[in-house]
Amino acid sequence: MAATIPATWMPDADMRRIHIHWTAGRHKANATDLASYHVLIEGDGKLLRGEPTISANDPARRRPGEKTSSHTLNANSHAIGVSMCAMFGASESPFDPGPAPLTEAQWARMIEVVAALARRYRIAITPETVLSHAEVQSNLGIPQRNKWDMTVLPFDRSLRGARAVGDRLRREVAAALDGGQPEPPQPLPDTLRLPRFRVHGVAPSTLNVRDAPNGAKVGALAEGARVEQLGISGGWWQVRTAQGHVGWVWHTFLRALA
Ligand SMILES: [Zn+2]
Repeated sequence: MAATIPATWMPDADMRRIHIHWTAGRHKANATDLASYHVLIEGDGKLLRGEPTISANDPARRRPGEKTSSHTLNANSHAIGVSMCAMFGASESPFDPGPAPLTEAQWARMIEVVAALARRYRIAITPETVLSHAEVQSNLGIPQRNKWDMTVLPFDRSLRGARAVGDRLRREVAAALDGGQPEPPQPLPDTLRLPRFRVHGVAPSTLNVRDAPNGAKVGALAEGARVEQLGISGGWWQVRTAQGHVGWVWHTFLRALA
């Protein structure tokens, strides 16, 4: 399976969120666009690497003098900025997409890109971790001065509001992670501290623990249970419980522990 994003675009870093934007520019990236985001998607779906490297937004890895991607007001640390080149001259209300409307080709490419980034950086697909710029204020509680990328999609006007668009985004990214070629589990290098998570959003039920990705149920975890992440295969994560049991769980029910 061809890589969506070259591996060199995704250096080691502690990245915890992906924010999706549009540039409010033309369908081709200009110099400002390239300086502002980590990854850009032009109107025809073409992928471009922005000037800031992803690891520059990890404060522990930024080199002296290295430029970060300032894609989201007061919320750039540990956050990857993906932007679709579109929506120059657009207005939200009444809605007018302007001469460079966001295209379905861009959207489809963006879904692939976000899935690849989430897989690489082990980011769960949740409203707090994979979200549009328009959701940052409501989902993270960080004011954003009326940003509306994306509260509406020119190619699907049945969706209204940031949450509806964000939910479509996450549904499609999760499907992209779940589908495709099965990948061999990728163990984490020993040199990394194992990422730790707690089970969230399953009460009053429990989270199934399986013997393989989508395999047979071998146990269950209660709301709030803590686990360490050992490996990943698409949307399935291999975890170790506090009791030392190892199994596979679906990742959207885990929240990162600091
Ligand atoms: Zn934005």
